[in-house]
Amino acid sequence: MEFDTIAAISTPMGEGAIAIVRLSGEEAIAIADTIFKTKSRKKLSEVESHTIHYGNIVDPDKDQVVEEVMVSLMRGPRTFTREDVVEINCHGGLVSVNRVLQLVLTQGARLAEPGEFTKRAFLNGRIDLSQAEAVMDLIRAKTDRAMNVAIDQMEGRLSKLIQRLRQELLETLAHIEVNIDYPEYDDVEEMTHTVLIEKASKVRNEIEILLRTSNQGKILREGLSTVIIGRPNVGKSSLLNSLVHENKAIVTDIPGTTRDVIEEYVNVRGVPLRLVDTAGIRETEDIVERIGVERSREVLKKADLILLVLNYNEALSEEDEKLFEAVKGMDTIVIINKTDLPQKIDLHRVKEIMSSQHLVTTSLLEEEGIDTLEEAISSMFFAGNIESGDLTYVSNSRHIALLNQAKKTIEDAISGIEINVPIDLVQIDLTRTWEILGEIIGDAVHESLIDQLFSQFCLGK
Ligand code: GDP
Ligand code: ZN
Repeated sequence: MEFDTIAAISTPMGEGAIAIVRLSGEEAIAIADTIFKTKSRKKLSEVESHTIHYGNIVDPDKDQVVEEVMVSLMRGPRTFTREDVVEINCHGGLVSVNRVLQLVLTQGARLAEPGEFTKRAFLNGRIDLSQAEAVMDLIRAKTDRAMNVAIDQMEGRLSKLIQRLRQELLETLAHIEVNIDYPEYDDVEEMTHTVLIEKASKVRNEIEILLRTSNQGKILREGLSTVIIGRPNVGKSSLLNSLVHENKAIVTDIPGTTRDVIEEYVNVRGVPLRLVDTAGIRETEDIVERIGVERSREVLKKADLILLVLNYNEALSEEDEKLFEAVKGMDTIVIINKTDLPQKIDLHRVKEIMSSQHLVTTSLLEEEGIDTLEEAISSMFFAGNIESGDLTYVSNSRHIALLNQAKKTIEDAISGIEINVPIDLVQIDLTRTWEILGEIIGDAVHESLIDQLFSQFCLGK
């Protein structure tokens, strides 16, 4: 495939001491040569691939030095995009980086669209779609665990698994084909029937396992949206503060994207919590009072985790009981705070109205119990198995949706085989499953979907 030459600043705007202007395409080296001058006067077109060169960027019209740079030259196909790539490392601030980019554009490169470098890597066959999506996840990863999941996916772990499942489906389809072409082999028939169910069930089971990891994958990717509720003065703000102070707060502000929303995350033992901001907490303070149990249930339902705070030093009130009612069936941790003060709460009653929730006691004032709370949070969602390296995590909602579809079609195929429907109907379901799985890795996906997916990337990636 051949494309024009694109360029962009591929480091976050305004951050860091070094900024990189990246070029990719047929003309990348020629364009760089018009503005890059080394002491030895050597042209980039003459030097070896995968080498770095020191020199100046010179405005050819004014014969004026714009910036002192290091330039890396990488000839395709051994590059991220599989095209010729030139990276200009600038040391100066934003202004000089922009001048270098402007020069590159005047010399014939086109400003890259968001995600266009990764899109080229995909279109040139360097990576498949799920790997491309992983690049995006990696940029947004909020904890080390989330990053490891993205790296696994980028390295093609999910792709390999999907390819294997598709291969098995193809073999099964071939098996059926043989059966149709040589129907005279009566004794093969019976065997095929059993083998068919066996093979299809195996694929279904693997899809199920993948789907089971998806909840954790999604949490790692997007964070657990966490709401703290409780009556006024029980210690909600104190809880928020100690969670933020004990843990590294992660601010995600992705430069160059359209959604520059600053969200606050805290990293609790590898689990990213997306905490409602303090203003939000004030609003939820009397949420049940204000909008009633039914409506507040709807609001709270959007949360992945609820931290319900009670006061050890006060009797359980009707309001507290309403809160319990509102969080029924949701992932909740009940926190009884202010254990440094005399006990006035009836713990028997608390245990009575609690269902399966975890119970933690704290004295936020004396910084006690926070460890236990953090342990409860991480064991609640990861039950220890996240550390095991052998699972492939699915975290992308597009992949999850496709896996659910694939599971449904393979189940249709299996029940079809079981009740002996005409074999061509089974073939249709198996083929459909094969196609749906193909969409995960970008086989047979519609062009507009590709455009839409890549447009979510940061500029310069
Ligand atoms: P909120 O209204 O639920 O957000 O409660 P705050 O976090 O604002 O706390 C209300 C008051 O209780 C503040 O004066 C806190 O310092 C105090 N407080 C919070 N946690 C504890 C605790 O564990 N023990 C004691 N004695 N006081 C606490
Ligand atoms: Zn408060």
